[in-house]
Amino acid sequence: MARIGFIGLGNMGGGMAANLAKAGHDVRAFDLSQDALDRAKAAGCLPAASAAEAVTDAEFVVTMLPAGKHVRAVYEGEVFGAVPGTALLLDCSTIDVASARAVGAAAQAKGLAMVDAPVSGGIAAANGGTLTFMVGGSAEHFARAQPILERMGKAVIHAGPLGSGQAAKICNNMLLGATMVATCEAFVMAQKLGLDPQTFFDISSKASGQSWSMTSYCPLPGVGPQTPADNGYQGGFASALMLKDLKLAVEAAQGVDAAVPMGAAAGALYQAFVNAGNGVLDFSGIIRMLAGADGR
Ligand code: NAD
Repeated sequence: MARIGFIGLGNMGGGMAANLAKAGHDVRAFDLSQDALDRAKAAGCLPAASAAEAVTDAEFVVTMLPAGKHVRAVYEGEVFGAVPGTALLLDCSTIDVASARAVGAAAQAKGLAMVDAPVSGGIAAANGGTLTFMVGGSAEHFARAQPILERMGKAVIHAGPLGSGQAAKICNNMLLGATMVATCEAFVMAQKLGLDPQTFFDISSKASGQSWSMTSYCPLPGVGPQTPADNGYQGGFASALMLKDLKLAVEAAQGVDAAVPMGAAAGALYQAFVNAGNGVLDFSGIIRMLAGADGR
């Protein structure tokens, strides 16, 4: 079993670190929050006093932090100076492609191996060990990361060289944001045209309008499978996080001169939804805004 330094024990990282400990790994965990550290200890991890202490002697380092600036600060400020040269660094946070590549290049310059491995799946998948990992890095580093990631997920996919995991993640989530908005619009319009929502679902989920947002994550309560819509849009994937991912996608698109008018439009709609105080609601809750006059 491996010695793993785990930094960032929030909504996602807490469950991920617990799954590594449950699998028998020696997990030294650190977070700025004492509550998060206490939960990690209860889940079988060994709390550390700092990120540097967590990674001393580590064979693997896993980070699950909010954004690029936190990832840069943790690696450049603490991890690089304390971690053994043989360790493999795995950043699972969702961050901008430029920061992922910059931190990866800094690691490389120090002779350290690194992969970016962002996830698809929310808090329930993190707790249940059923995340999907999209991994950027060399084939050799991917092969080393795979057995560790498999303890936290149901699928581990090699996306390409360093930074490719983040690229895959934001392209996927841009598609998700755009299809969710389009699915919500279609439901609202179908109802206004006099269609029964369940009938429209039965048709569209088997016809060419089908998407994951329609079939597996239907934004209307009482229609299709159980989703956050059936729970007042509580839980699930917060609209604030969808907005974060759409902003990252538009920023990345600008960097490579890619046209993303649909992604940008979805971003503007989620910005309005979040500005109206709905950041904690599941992202399918945007149907409420689109059903009202302010959605036009
Ligand atoms: P979170 O805010 O719950 O957790 C982040 C944790 O990092 C916090 O506990 C915070 O105290 C800690 N932290 C911040 N700076 C630190 C530092 N310098 N040293 C140590 N700890 C530090 O966020 P989350 O929901 O767990 O998300 C983590 C990442 O996963 C984000 O990049 C997010 O976009 C991504 N993600 C989240 C979800 C989701 O559904 N929540 C799904 C997929 C991906």
